[in-house]
Amino acid sequence: MGIPTVERSRAVEDYVKAIHAIADDGGDRSVGTTALASHLGVTPASASGMVRKLATLGLASSSPYRGVTLTDDGEGLALSILRRHRLLETFLAQRLGIPWDRVHAEAEVLEHVLSVELEAAIANNLGNPDRDPHGAPIPRSDLTVEEQQTFPLDQLAEGDRVRFVRIPDERPEMLRWLAERGIAPGVEIELKRREPFGGPLTAAINGREHQLGVELAAAIRVEYL
Ligand SMILES: [Zn+2]
Repeated sequence: MGIPTVERSRAVEDYVKAIHAIADDGGDRSVGTTALASHLGVTPASASGMVRKLATLGLASSSPYRGVTLTDDGEGLALSILRRHRLLETFLAQRLGIPWDRVHAEAEVLEHVLSVELEAAIANNLGNPDRDPHGAPIPRSDLTVEEQQTFPLDQLAEGDRVRFVRIPDERPEMLRWLAERGIAPGVEIELKRREPFGGPLTAAINGREHQLGVELAAAIRVEYL
């Protein structure tokens, strides 16, 4: 990575991470400034200003019609932040026993100050895990990442049997609801019934039936068995 340490400011890293996240969601590599501003809760004017800064740092390129795209250096920076973030979440959950609904907020802060040495020590201590507590893939030290095809649970048909792969890490109340019922990545889920008109889903998990709201079912990503 050719980014000087002094430029590893929290704002730069948060913007790079946001562009990466929005591009990933949309399946399109370029991101509109308006979408970026609303994702970060800033005005379009400050988003435009920061995009210009990212361009001078060689982290992103932008054009009025195409939007913002990360350069290879920007993509590398985004993946290195995700690696630190997800290793931290795993360390906090596994080694310090912090509940999985609280590790994200801690990692959001610590990811910006973690040294290369401490990152390596944490990865080593954890045995180089490939997934964080929410099931998200942890980029490897060479910044490659294993992307896996998953589906939202709300797309299943009755009788489908799947495995819970991952859940977004940003909704503590959703994570607590799942934790209280022992529902976590790795468990098997069988969809029993779907109520019509966007009603709840009934799923068998760990030998018990649970009613899952559509919002929750849309957030849970699964793979077929
Ligand atoms: Zn997180």
